[in-house]
Amino acid sequence: MLSIIKPLIVNITILFSFAFNANMFIPFQRNMNITFKYKIVYSIIGAFGALLCMAYPIETLGETNFDLRMVAIMIITLYTGWASGLFVVIIVSIMRFIIGGSFIHIGIIVSVSAYLIALLFRKKFKSSNRLISGALAAFTYFGIYIILLYFNIAFLKLSFYITYFIAFFITYLAIIFIIETLLERNKQFDEMVYLDKLTTTGQMAASIAHEIRNPITTVRGFIQFMQKDTKDETLKQFSPLILEELDRTNQIITNYLTLAKPESFEMKTVNIEEVLMDSISLLRPLGNLSNVTIEYVPTDPIYIRGDLQYTKQSLLNIIKNAIESIETQGVVKISKYVNTQLGIVTITIKDNGKGMTKEELKQIGLPFYTTKTKGTGLGSMITNRLIRQIGGTIDYESEVGKGTTVSVSFKLDY
Ligand code: ADP
Ligand code: MG
Repeated sequence: MLSIIKPLIVNITILFSFAFNANMFIPFQRNMNITFKYKIVYSIIGAFGALLCMAYPIETLGETNFDLRMVAIMIITLYTGWASGLFVVIIVSIMRFIIGGSFIHIGIIVSVSAYLIALLFRKKFKSSNRLISGALAAFTYFGIYIILLYFNIAFLKLSFYITYFIAFFITYLAIIFIIETLLERNKQFDEMVYLDKLTTTGQMAASIAHEIRNPITTVRGFIQFMQKDTKDETLKQFSPLILEELDRTNQIITNYLTLAKPESFEMKTVNIEEVLMDSISLLRPLGNLSNVTIEYVPTDPIYIRGDLQYTKQSLLNIIKNAIESIETQGVVKISKYVNTQLGIVTITIKDNGKGMTKEELKQIGLPFYTTKTKGTGLGSMITNRLIRQIGGTIDYESEVGKGTTVSVSFKLDY
């Protein structure tokens, strides 16, 4: 037994450490665009891991080798796609060929079937619970593996098979779990960095705004004082205008200040349906002006937990951006979906405007990032912050020339 356990632990350690190393080279990110360069890096790491596993076989029966290289093949294929998976399979097959023996074909067939099954399950894996769909893929593979073994090689001890498959399964699931945890951690880290940037710029804006407000108040006082008993006609005529403009400046600064020091919010039951209707009717005129129709099918009230002002402000910003992304004419489709299982309602705002590149998508929400001549580059930043503060989430998906879909989720209130 010990003779199996030792190489087994070596195999498991190799695979675990490679998962962490892959994350170190290129941190895992959900919805990340796995470019050609990333694929190469991940494939090399995967192939290297598989090769090392092959160097420490758990059991060599005659000339067959049992090791956990298939875990590497399946994980790489499930996460990074057919090309990287294929690369690992080819490297593994070449290696198997070099090791030689009369069971080369079986060795290659089991590796290729691991690859094919992972490919088959990839779509499901990407869209549903990864541990469950990953486990399903593994069971399917085990079925095929056992049949292949049964017909092709002499039977080993049952205890060996049991140990092997259990170890395979646990290692494989553990790696999926590690990758998922790393994905979550990396996301939290990015959010932390983002929030930190927000606070810094927010505080800077606040102190500058404060400094500007004081002299403005003084100037305003003097103008008011002078206009009362002046004989200067021009001053009499223009002083209201000056005062008005000064007030407007003050208003803008106040807006910035609220941004930096957000007003306290109150978590209450909010009828999101009503908020949506309000926001849409507020923005319809803007839409009409730029030939944009807003499509939305009203429903019965849906209640969420949040702050009325916050939800409204964020939806307004998102819909406004959607309208502004459309250059000549187009549609903004708004829909919502209640997921009682997760206890959330997801609102999607989909436009067929100019869309964004991956690089632009990364910048959205950063303070002062704007591509508009009259933009402030603050809308999305505020939106993101408001939504986060009331415990919601926001996600952007975009394709250049096709449009953008923004999905906002709020917690349902029961
Ligand atoms: P502003 O609207 O003042 O430019 P935002 O923070 O609201 O600032 O948006 C930042 C930038 O993100 C915009 O200038 C635009 O380039 C991009 N953007 C936001 N929403 C969309 C969208 N729906 N379609 C295309 N680009 C968008
Ligand atoms: Mg905006």
